Amino acid sequence: MKDRIILISGGTSGIGLAAARLFLSRGMKVALAGRSEAKGRAAISALDTRHAGEMFREKAKYIMADVSQPEGCERLVKDTIARFGRIDVLVNSAGVYFEQPAEDLTEEDYTRVMDVNLKGIMFLTKYALPYLKEAKGNIVNVSSDAGLRGNYLCSLYCASKGAVTLYTKSLAIELAPHGVRVNCVCPGDILTPMTESQLQAAISREEALQAMASVYPLQRIGTAEEAAAVIAFLASSAASFVTGAAWSVDGGLTA
Ligand code: NAD
Repeated sequence: MKDRIILISGGTSGIGLAAARLFLSRGMKVALAGRSEAKGRAAISALDTRHAGEMFREKAKYIMADVSQPEGCERLVKDTIARFGRIDVLVNSAGVYFEQPAEDLTEEDYTRVMDVNLKGIMFLTKYALPYLKEAKGNIVNVSSDAGLRGNYLCSLYCASKGAVTLYTKSLAIELAPHGVRVNCVCPGDILTPMTESQLQAAISREEALQAMASVYPLQRIGTAEEAAAVIAFLASSAASFVTGAAWSVDGGLTA
């Protein structure tokens, strides 16, 4: 996969950033998309480590984009092509988490969650597809264990991630004749800024972390690197006969 171009939405933190680091360490180039210039700069400096005699920075580009807006998705693809000339892999990692009793959900909540978690994936895919078809590339979407089964107080997030899982499977069938594979990962709790903000909201972070970990057969939550490793595998030719998969990375939670 050396020299391949990877476009990662939500690439400036958490799972997306860990995937960027892994792709870079394997000689690929990455376009990291996010909404905050400051976070983008921080992400690029966080990747600024020497590897195999080359600076990561030269191979990573931050592109500002709000994926909840179709025009943001279109511009992101154009900017990636302008910088790198092709797209081999699209990783849709941008996402927002939300818990709320169903009765209290508002239309604004619906729009905010669905526009990032589902619409963003659909439109980024739409605009990247001509390039992915040309490259016979592939897509890895970041769904969730919540995209495979229900979670308490989480109906809107689960609905968005369930949609991501089935969007992935349907697209895999549609794109197979074009040689484009489409898969998703379904992580359980992974320690990233998203999970950290849930833990920080608890009275005791340590007790909340223990309670979270206790429901996992492996008795812990995962790391961004563990989720990224599966993303990189699915994106690689080692997974050349894998398409339409919803790959759990959840310490046995949904086993
Ligand atoms: P994170 O908050 O570090 O990463 C999500 C990224 O998406 C952030 O950088 C955020 O700025 C970006 N983003 C949000 N809205 C955006 C928009 N409109 N346009 C562009 N970027 C936007 O958290 P993470 O855990 O790395 O999350 C990555 C993905 O993994 C998400 O889709 C999340 O739903 C999924 N996931 C996370 C967990 C977990 O426990 N952390 C579990 C299952 C699934």
